[in-house]
Amino acid sequence: MAILEVSGVNKTFGGLKALTDVNLTVEENTIHAIIGPNGAGKSTMLNCMMGKLQPDNGVVNFDGTSLLGGITPYQINQLGVCRVFQTPEVFSDMSLLENVMIPSLARHDGAFEFNGWGPVAKRDEVSQDAIQMLAEVGLAEQRNVITGSLSRGDKRRLEMAMCLVQKPKLLLLDEPTAGMSRADTNNTIELLKKIGERDITMIIIEHDMHVVFSLADHISVLAQGTVIVDGKPESIKGDPRVIEAYLGGELG
Ligand code: ADP
Ligand code: MG
Repeated sequence: MAILEVSGVNKTFGGLKALTDVNLTVEENTIHAIIGPNGAGKSTMLNCMMGKLQPDNGVVNFDGTSLLGGITPYQINQLGVCRVFQTPEVFSDMSLLENVMIPSLARHDGAFEFNGWGPVAKRDEVSQDAIQMLAEVGLAEQRNVITGSLSRGDKRRLEMAMCLVQKPKLLLLDEPTAGMSRADTNNTIELLKKIGERDITMIIIEHDMHVVFSLADHISVLAQGTVIVDGKPESIKGDPRVIEAYLGGELG
């Protein structure tokens, strides 16, 4: 079943056509990679799916709900869509645990209620969830460390925990291994494979073909704002149109 359907999406910036008639179907519980040379329109596409950019026209439906026409990024998040940023966005002067508790609190009904006598309701439940999630990304032992001192790779893992604690249906990742060493990249691949085992759909924008072919169930290739090839990894590998698109631009 399709969880995300994009059809006929166009986006222009002044005179520049960043997206031309983009169609994309993402099946539930799959890892769907969007690849393409620099400037192909990948980030623009992601921003149109997150309510950050409004396309000129077209349809973006998530789980039967339109993500266009005035819906806010907050509302999109409430529907179960979460995004991991290219540069990790974390609260640097807070502990790792606090960083994961904040999005977790937002997910717990009644977590903000005071009863006048006791502590914030569900606080224990929230911190248990947060600790468990930190354990899953391999950061449980550092839960009381101040986040600003973490390596970039660890900040990404933390950001992943901040997303996962919200139990999203759809996780969007913009170049999750950008700037990482080979060892960190391989760790991230293993982590994403583990995450992929739960009820979750992932859309990954990625330059690194090793990452793409290790993870993707389905690949859409964008070039100059259009989807030029769309299919299973086996059928993408060696497709002359893909090779040409990459040779015409930057090798991924
Ligand atoms: P990718 O992520 O595939 O590298 P982008 O989606 O960032 O590509 O960009 C697609 C095209 O749109 C590029 O030519 C880029 O310069 C242009 N573009 C992206 N965002 C803007 C913007 N906010 N204003 C003007 N042009 C933009
Ligand atoms: Mg980009």
